[in-house]
Amino acid sequence: ACLDRTESHDAQVGAFLRVDADAALAQADAIDKRRAAGETLGPLAGLPVAVKDLLCQQGEPTTCASRMLENFRPPYDSTVVAKLREADAVLLGRTNMDEFAMGGSTENSAFQPTRNPWDLKRSPGGSSGGAAACVAAGMAPLSIGTDTGGSIRQPSAFCGVVGMKPTYGRVSRFGLVAFASSLDQVGPIAGSVTDTALLLDAIAGHCERDSTSLDVAKPNYLQDIDKPLDGLRLGVVTEHFGKGLDPEVESAVRAAIAAYEGQGAEIVELSLPHSKHAVATYYVIAPCEASSNLARYDGAHYGYRTEERAMLAQLQADRKAAQEAGDEQALDDIDTALVRMYRQSRSEAIGPEVKRRIMLGAYALSAGYYDAYYLKALKVRRLIRQDFDQAFEKVDLIIGPTTAAPAPELGQFDNDPLGMYLLDLYTVSANLAGLPAMSLPCGQSKSGLPIGLQLHAPPLEEARLLRAARMFE
Ligand code: GLN
Repeated sequence: ACLDRTESHDAQVGAFLRVDADAALAQADAIDKRRAAGETLGPLAGLPVAVKDLLCQQGEPTTCASRMLENFRPPYDSTVVAKLREADAVLLGRTNMDEFAMGGSTENSAFQPTRNPWDLKRSPGGSSGGAAACVAAGMAPLSIGTDTGGSIRQPSAFCGVVGMKPTYGRVSRFGLVAFASSLDQVGPIAGSVTDTALLLDAIAGHCERDSTSLDVAKPNYLQDIDKPLDGLRLGVVTEHFGKGLDPEVESAVRAAIAAYEGQGAEIVELSLPHSKHAVATYYVIAPCEASSNLARYDGAHYGYRTEERAMLAQLQADRKAAQEAGDEQALDDIDTALVRMYRQSRSEAIGPEVKRRIMLGAYALSAGYYDAYYLKALKVRRLIRQDFDQAFEKVDLIIGPTTAAPAPELGQFDNDPLGMYLLDLYTVSANLAGLPAMSLPCGQSKSGLPIGLQLHAPPLEEARLLRAARMFE
């Protein structure tokens, strides 16, 4: 059914970069046979899962929606993909995204834009736009996204589905192509809170191959999910309802807060005073880490290499010969050619937004600016985290909007990168503080666009998030 639906609808939506129908059907058949033979199957037995195209899957292209990795086929599975296989999921295909997960509209993909299934003139959000859109359009019940500054929650809000960014370290990032390593986290997208819990159960847990993975026991997220939380204290943040918040979003979110109050929750007004610096802080730290992480795409080790320049092997052989001959001039010339190859490869294969991030990051990390930008941003990051720590002494969860407005039109931010960055107003704080947060649908605008409600929890309280979300659903 998912394959049929994809066949009939994805030409319009563009959620998938690749669908491997034959392999998916073969996996489904194999699972059926094992079921018939009486084998015990995993918790996702036979359920199709779509995976964002930046988690390594052995032998399959893993492009990050970049020309740079167009022909990259990893020789191994990421831990998340391996866990999906262990759970007997069917790997349906790979979803579109902003190049290297940098963006908020999926328009930065080198291959195609994705359209919002609710209104094809609009963006599904990003960077996990394909992952959210395929669930919204009924092409997959479950998908995997990543969230560095909101890339699971924001597209989930724009597409009317449920998405969670778990605590930093909760889900393994082994085999995830890195964007900003201190912020990146993998998480589930689904059509309901229960399905989100089911998928999180399958992918969460300690992983020895990821040094940032948390070595703590993993609860069963489905257990107790239907038990409402007694005496729930919900924090409403003054700064989340300031200038720029769309009135329709505000009233949907206020109605959701009232619904919780109706179920006995206590509503506590509070302030996160440093949250006004979150976007600025994020857009220093994320590009700094990106500029460092993306240095590996040099046209030499793997990825795209320019055709216009001499082949690397020849240059390396020449270099060796020149070294042996002690020919300094020849060595200089060869090194210049190598740098040219590096520069040319990157110029040709990396898109404009990713280049902008690399330049911003390299600038902020350079001698003379490091203290003023990068180090300052790290200090503000600490203050943002402290605000949350203090807030969670008074409340169990924080409730508010996921985004300030519903999905933007495609092309709206073509010449306005800053406007695009401001889409992340309410989402980046959770990444800066390492907290779990989720988005769930809470209404529609008059024009029929979905509106997202966001919940934040203290570290490792994903089960609390899910139970609270289930109370609303
Ligand atoms: N929109 C943010 C950015 O462009 C977040 C992206 C993400 O979470 N991957 O960096």
